[in-house]
Amino acid sequence: MSSFVFRKGVLHAEKVPLPAIADAVGTPTYVYSTEALTRHFLAVSEAFAEARPLLCYSVKANSNLAILKLFAGLGGGFDIVSGGELARVKHAGGDPAKTVFAGVGKTAEEMEAALAAGILLFNVESAEELEALDAVGRRMGRRAPFALRVNPEVDARTHRYIATGLKTSKFGVPFEEAVELYARSRKMKGVRAAGLDCHIGSQLTQSAPLRAALTKVAGLYLALKAQKHALEYLDVGGGLGITYVDETPPSAAEYARVVCAATKDTGARLVLEPGRSLVGNAGVLLTRVLYRKQTPARRFAVVDAGMNDLLRPALYEAHHGFVPLVKRRGGKAVEVDVVGPVCESTDVLAKARSLVLPQAGELYAFLSAGAYGMSMASNYNSRPRPAEVLVDGEAWRVVRERERTEDLWRGERA
Ligand SMILES: *Cc1c(COP(=O)(O)O)cnc(C)c1O
Repeated sequence: MSSFVFRKGVLHAEKVPLPAIADAVGTPTYVYSTEALTRHFLAVSEAFAEARPLLCYSVKANSNLAILKLFAGLGGGFDIVSGGELARVKHAGGDPAKTVFAGVGKTAEEMEAALAAGILLFNVESAEELEALDAVGRRMGRRAPFALRVNPEVDARTHRYIATGLKTSKFGVPFEEAVELYARSRKMKGVRAAGLDCHIGSQLTQSAPLRAALTKVAGLYLALKAQKHALEYLDVGGGLGITYVDETPPSAAEYARVVCAATKDTGARLVLEPGRSLVGNAGVLLTRVLYRKQTPARRFAVVDAGMNDLLRPALYEAHHGFVPLVKRRGGKAVEVDVVGPVCESTDVLAKARSLVLPQAGELYAFLSAGAYGMSMASNYNSRPRPAEVLVDGEAWRVVRERERTEDLWRGERA
């Protein structure tokens, strides 16, 4: 998180003191660093420079238009999972011809929109989806380029809710069925086999599962090539982890070594789908302390950000660092649960932390909140979603306004 540093006891994003943003925009507010976003993107593209992969940022990690525009400007493509994400990519100036479309439940309308936009690759996740894509392609007089997403059946050794390559996962086509499905696709006039795809999970902190999965998938790619399928792309998915607490995920360079070593014999053009590793540590969520509360069992700090703003702790038992924007001098650390205002027992954003007891009115930041933060935010409890701010050096601007109360019932009829 080196773009977020304390200077003279005040937490800054690049050159901007975060309390200034909180005072101007209010809280809760997400703040992102242009410098960090750029550095993370370039770290991956430079680590893979020799392989010249297509770097498709996974939009669902953080879909703000300003972030999409930044990555498009750096030459990035996109990994999308819905028609809505396709529309965002286009609106931000992203190139559909550098965009791949994943997801187990694409509708015919979403397929049509993506094919019309000239998407690079449909990552198909079932036999029935391939048939549906074929029907769409035939209706439009086009051959939709596809890659089967295969399930390599490896344990990514991550939280069970974000592992996607287990035998029991809903994602991908069973590994053994892939050869037959590619063979069947030869008779389909609305699709053409253009690649092979896998994605084993998120927040991967070890390279062994990735190496095992990619070795399997590279073998399958070569077997399909030997059967004269005209594959060009090997999509290795995303999933590279970041440091939230004390995890030591592979560096970009180590990740590139593992991916390239496992896939180099294929001669395929690599597609990468990094999400979290580009944006996670490029963002923080600012919040203000409302109350302190002590029960016979526990001590609480109630803050103005809730699980509707940052869902990860409630959804995945995730840990986000929690620091005051202005460093506290002295004071004894006690064990505190940092909770939000939402009426749910899982609305605990930081559990059993050792902190100098926060005071009402004090500003804090949840760290490492750039990925799967705002993109998962909801209006639960009729709470307007937070504002988003992008910092660039000494400058900053609001890249998404805080929702207004009347936005809460937009489209409703009483
Ligand atoms: C979510 C997702 C990604 C991105 O995962 P990260 O862990 O954020 O890098 C990539 N590919 C697919 C298919 C996904 O669903």
